[in-house]
Amino acid sequence: MESLSVNHPPVAIVGGGIAGISAAFHLSQYGVPIVIFEQGNQLGGRIRSFYDDGFDAELDWGVHIVAGAYTEFLRLLRALGTDKEMRWIRPLHLPFKGIGTPTYHLQFRRLPGILGPLTGFLSYRALSFSERLRLALQLLRLVSKKHVPAISAETWLAQIGATPMQASRFWDPLILATLNSLSNQIGLLSLHQIVRLGLSQSAGFALGLPLKPWQRIVGDAAQSYLVRRGVEVRLKTRVKQVIIENGQVRGLSLNGEQVPVSGTILAVSPWDWRHVLTPEQFELLLDRAWLSPPSSAVHSVHALFETEEPPTTAPMLGLWGTVNHWAFAQRLESHQPLWRISTVISASDGLLSLPESQIIALTVRELHALWPDFRPEPSKVRCVRMQYATCPFTINFEKWRPNQKTRVAGLFLAGDATATGLPATLESAARSGSLAAKALREEARGDGQA
Ligand SMILES: Cc1cc2nc3c(=O)[nH]c(=O)nc-3n(C[C@H](O)[C@H](O)[C@H](O)COP(=O)(O)OP(=O)(O)OC[C@H]3O[C@@H](n4cnc5c(N)ncnc54)[C@H](O)[C@@H]3O)c2cc1C
Repeated sequence: MESLSVNHPPVAIVGGGIAGISAAFHLSQYGVPIVIFEQGNQLGGRIRSFYDDGFDAELDWGVHIVAGAYTEFLRLLRALGTDKEMRWIRPLHLPFKGIGTPTYHLQFRRLPGILGPLTGFLSYRALSFSERLRLALQLLRLVSKKHVPAISAETWLAQIGATPMQASRFWDPLILATLNSLSNQIGLLSLHQIVRLGLSQSAGFALGLPLKPWQRIVGDAAQSYLVRRGVEVRLKTRVKQVIIENGQVRGLSLNGEQVPVSGTILAVSPWDWRHVLTPEQFELLLDRAWLSPPSSAVHSVHALFETEEPPTTAPMLGLWGTVNHWAFAQRLESHQPLWRISTVISASDGLLSLPESQIIALTVRELHALWPDFRPEPSKVRCVRMQYATCPFTINFEKWRPNQKTRVAGLFLAGDATATGLPATLESAARSGSLAAKALREEARGDGQA
């Protein structure tokens, strides 16, 4: 690979999502000339926002929650100066409710190490005492596994004898919230990775929610930070192809333009790999299974209520037995009482054929059924659909996740689906960018030219 210096062509990063931003952030610390090519009109990728005329406000394309254990993602926010624009639920406190049920609380304690969550599980009254005790043991058994068998999460739950209550009131919500999947769609390894991440450090017991639209916290902040550090950001620029000659990446082809590069980090989503690589390049770099990677959809409904008394004031509430899985309440700054209730339906491919108006009507019906005393209709409402939200790693897909370093000199992969040891999350994307940047620097140094 060519030397990384100002006298040589730049390193190209294709894709300005978290993976691309993270790669640029790490490389920019070494004075490497960098250009980011992003086909959209802003950075951020899947964690972005849009202006909604009806709301006269920016809305997120999907509600994103962050775990305290997202070390690489949070390092990025600190560098961008936007880490303070998060609201933290620390220690973790999640209320849960179903239609006709009381509200139950999963509330961790401020105790050292694993004691905080353990006492939290033991006092989670949505389950009987013996179910809670067994749940704590099941979790410990899962995190301590040295070898994780290649089975689905559902098979494992059946093997350990999880009761229907444990499944519906703990495991299913956990799998939906963290993996955007149903237990039969996801390999046990993903569940193991996310539980281990959550329980690995005390910061993991916290959940973070944005105080502003995500676009401000991530995409816009990254754009000004990177430009300040000399990174060229080319928005609305789609890379058509990667040019590889003699086993080495040479350049990129854009619309009517060829750009020479010293190296390239391909940080597009797994559904875009086949669009940027020729069939021969694809064959060389990736397992064929990635020609049609699995995907899992997310639907969010944002509803505005002009009321002093919203159905819930909890920043995040789990819902049982309803189509909606989560509700997020946020009081908006305004002279009249105004609450935004956003709901999320995870793993919702089954709803893709329904018109958005039907999903809105169903959500409002569910809010009224969950809180029968709450009758107001929303003054504004919007459904946001993301068909390609996350890639669920079924048992097989985990072993096909590619490393950041490829067989082609100077070409690296990044993105939440590359091999990071984590399920497809913001943290996986941020980690992949850091790993790709490191691999690129190592390869350049190996040539003795960096
Ligand atoms: C609705 C929703 C809710 C989610 N909730 C959570 C959550 O609560 N917690 C969590 O951890 N994760 C969540 N995720 C997952 C998280 O958003 C992703 O894991 C992460 O954003 C992926 O980042 P990435 O950089 O790997 O990919 P992307 O964000 O997809 O970035 C890839 C970028 O490449 C660009 N691109 C593609 N092709 C080209 C090309 N040819 N030329 C130039 N640019 C190109 C795309 O426009 C895009 O900007 C959620 C995702 C969605 C959609």
